[in-house]
Amino acid sequence: MTKKVTVVGAGLVGSLLSIYLAKRGYKIDLFERRPDMRTAKIAAGKSINLALSDRGWKGLEGVGIADEIKKIAIPMYGRYIHHKDGSTAFQPYGKDNQAIYSVSRAEINMRLMDLAEQQENVNIHFNERCTTIDRQKLEAHFENAETHKATAVQSDLLFGSDGAFAASRLNMQLSSDRFEYNQHYISAGYKELIIPPGPNGEFMIEKNALHIWPRGSFMMIALPNTDGNFTCTLFFPFEGEKSFASINTRDDVEKFFKEEFPDAVPLMPTLVDDYMNNPTSSLVTVKCFPWTFDDKIALIGDAAHAIVPFYGQGMNCGFEDCVVLNDLIDQHKESWPAILEEYQTLRKPDADAIADLAVMNFVEMRDKTGDPKFLLQKKIEANFSSKHPGKWIPLYSMVTYSPHIRYSTALKSGMKQEEIMQKVMAMPDIEKKWDSEEVEKEMLKYL
Ligand SMILES: Cc1cc2nc3c(=O)[nH]c(=O)nc-3n(C[C@H](O)[C@H](O)[C@H](O)COP(=O)(O)OP(=O)(O)OC[C@H]3O[C@@H](n4cnc5c(N)ncnc54)[C@H](O)[C@@H]3O)c2cc1C
Repeated sequence: MTKKVTVVGAGLVGSLLSIYLAKRGYKIDLFERRPDMRTAKIAAGKSINLALSDRGWKGLEGVGIADEIKKIAIPMYGRYIHHKDGSTAFQPYGKDNQAIYSVSRAEINMRLMDLAEQQENVNIHFNERCTTIDRQKLEAHFENAETHKATAVQSDLLFGSDGAFAASRLNMQLSSDRFEYNQHYISAGYKELIIPPGPNGEFMIEKNALHIWPRGSFMMIALPNTDGNFTCTLFFPFEGEKSFASINTRDDVEKFFKEEFPDAVPLMPTLVDDYMNNPTSSLVTVKCFPWTFDDKIALIGDAAHAIVPFYGQGMNCGFEDCVVLNDLIDQHKESWPAILEEYQTLRKPDADAIADLAVMNFVEMRDKTGDPKFLLQKKIEANFSSKHPGKWIPLYSMVTYSPHIRYSTALKSGMKQEEIMQKVMAMPDIEKKWDSEEVEKEMLKYL
């Protein structure tokens, strides 16, 4: 019998999940609170582009759509650091031209919806907001944003992919005993700004890089878009001497940016208006458990594990959820109680690990990418890794380019590596002998 599946939320993960399940013959009804973004104008202000890396690509390849998405992706081969004195430095992300890819959130979401709709057994229903879920009947309730008409939809399985503030999760929380829930807002928020293309549509800063202006307690980053724009994001404390709270007037904005990001200001003609008009958004980590209920309901993507964006992994992790789930469907021959149980057991430690790594990476990006000692440490690691690739994969590479390594394993190995590197960095004259045999032997000893 063909199973009927309700998917709540046609964002990035819900759309991809629908393609996976449809390809296996399930009949999918995908419900999205917003209007169809392919025909309606999307609201500005929610991160315009995202970094897609190997875990995400693996998720797209699993249903044969990676080539479609590559058409709208720009490779970024490293970090391009902009110092306060106007000097710059390029730090490659990995070896052999390894890259992460900048994709427009709206474009990838629209392509995923197109590709989902190309499956004859996927129906997307827009303007339908999930209000409640009746667990006993496995019935989801929706309210239409335009007509306010209420609908009840029964199915054999239900997935909540409705994002960080998921209604599906809240429903499970309210109807479960011993539901673990933790949300944590970091003290910084973000605001999006723009570097537009030059007079001939050209990119005004290096196209194939992720730009960072690290400034200690805050930073700005910029990712390229296919139309020549860069989306800049200022990650900034809400409170304090230099913070959203301390910048109130147009003059404040100009003064602050000229002082902190002097090379960017001439490239941002609408800076002051954008700063004053664009929303300031907060950044949350959500951890919860369980992710599955009654052998028939599951949370996936940000609904199960929202993380801060500093490792560029939220979407990638959600796509990896789809890969894992798909593998488990094969492994357990469509026995859903077993699939769902193993899905949450496997994924929960990995989601927790990338959530923690993402918070740690904030410090690395905003503070350490401009610190010569940190850069030396990374150089030593890269050098050692090229000589002993089987013994040492740098943490960034494990997370970003190694989908065969679980996030939880990457975190554990990364902690161990950091301990070793602290000892190595404490060696006398390390600056002079960083690529010596002595350092190599020392590292081998610790391993
Ligand atoms: C500033 C920022 C930068 C980021 N950068 C990166 C990055 O570089 N790389 C990366 O991998 N990740 C990044 N992320 C994370 C990434 O955006 C998320 O992990 C990803 O969008 C999760 O996809 P999702 O489908 O689970 O949730 P969402 O994309 O949020 O989709 C949820 C969908 O559900 C719909 N919905 C919500 N409530 C309801 C309801 N009640 N009924 C019906 N529908 C509903 C929403 O309208 C939406 O379409 C970033 C996030 C932020 C905030």
